[in-house]
Amino acid sequence: MDEFPFQDFRAPYLELKEELDAAYQRFMNSGHLVLGDEVSGFEAAYASFCGADHAVGLSSGLDALHLALRAAGIGPGDEVVVPSNTYIATWLAVHHAGASPVPVEPDPATFNIDPARIPSALGPQTKAILAVNLYGLPSDYPAIESIARQHGLVFLTDNAQAQGAICQGRPVGGLADLECHSFYPSKNLGAFGEAGAVTTNHATWAETLLKLRHYGARERNHHEIAGFNARLDELQAAFLCVRLHHLPEWNTRRVKIAALYMEALSGIPDLTLPIQPDGLQSAWHQFVIRHPRRDALRAHLAAAGIPTMVHYPVPPHLSGAFRHLGYREGAFPVAETMARQMISLPIHAHLGEERAHRVVEALVGFEG
Ligand SMILES: *Cc1c(COP(=O)(O)O)cnc(C)c1O
Repeated sequence: MDEFPFQDFRAPYLELKEELDAAYQRFMNSGHLVLGDEVSGFEAAYASFCGADHAVGLSSGLDALHLALRAAGIGPGDEVVVPSNTYIATWLAVHHAGASPVPVEPDPATFNIDPARIPSALGPQTKAILAVNLYGLPSDYPAIESIARQHGLVFLTDNAQAQGAICQGRPVGGLADLECHSFYPSKNLGAFGEAGAVTTNHATWAETLLKLRHYGARERNHHEIAGFNARLDELQAAFLCVRLHHLPEWNTRRVKIAALYMEALSGIPDLTLPIQPDGLQSAWHQFVIRHPRRDALRAHLAAAGIPTMVHYPVPPHLSGAFRHLGYREGAFPVAETMARQMISLPIHAHLGEERAHRVVEALVGFEG
């Protein structure tokens, strides 16, 4: 059987070719290459999409996380609660801000940080909770917010994977104090290169972010703080404006693939499907199943021409980058078990139902 790729980076261009080519021409003819109308236009459109007062365009998701922490005043000596199971960028951002990540295990049913486990991780050094909307599913915003308010902590999210997700009727992005987005090409709202943003309802933090991304200056040669070069690229902003219009429809295609998988794969012995708690609408960035014989199942699928991935095989606490924290295997058993059992099935706006059916057929045929 012919193979298909896990991701398709060409299909979004082909579908939107006219609009994207027009955006490119508009950008080239403007003669304005850095921090122009495309960036401010996208920031306004994305803030409104998220229901947030401000959006600040940045160079990547990692920069968004790092600079959001700095804008909130988090730095050396501070602790930030993070999930034990996330992409390493979440932890790296805390590290780069000079603070220490304090891992909290997820709820194994939702993959998201378990609010019930947060209070025991808090101490005098804790300054913030950084929740991750993993695989597209919103975290438990109300529960985390109430812990944050009770303890005077900043509530941030890593929303790299959940653009367009809904939490109790409201879009994510306008709910926590600072929400951090990645527009890496594989994300639901993907650029054609590197891009990110922070959304917030706090005007002073938005203002600080505008400085942090541009050498600490709002006005030429007035460098008020020690900033960075972390600007959203004007051309990527032009492309993102086009893609944002199509995000709801493209997320709906993901929802349909997820529903197809849910229906066709329910009741298979040893196979655990993802869940979507009441009141939450996932953006279905990934469709992650669990199986005790994960590697055998992956090999079976690969032999049938079905591409899969593992998000992520090594939890951050066991990576070389965080060896200095001194965690051993067994320190975070929920995250470690997930890392051994998870498989991400193909899901994206251009997958198509025919391929999804092929995935199902191959999975049903596994007799590991
Ligand atoms: C992709 C991703 C990031 C990093 O975004 P970049 O734009 O690649 O820097 C951070 N956190 C999570 C959960 C991600 O999936």
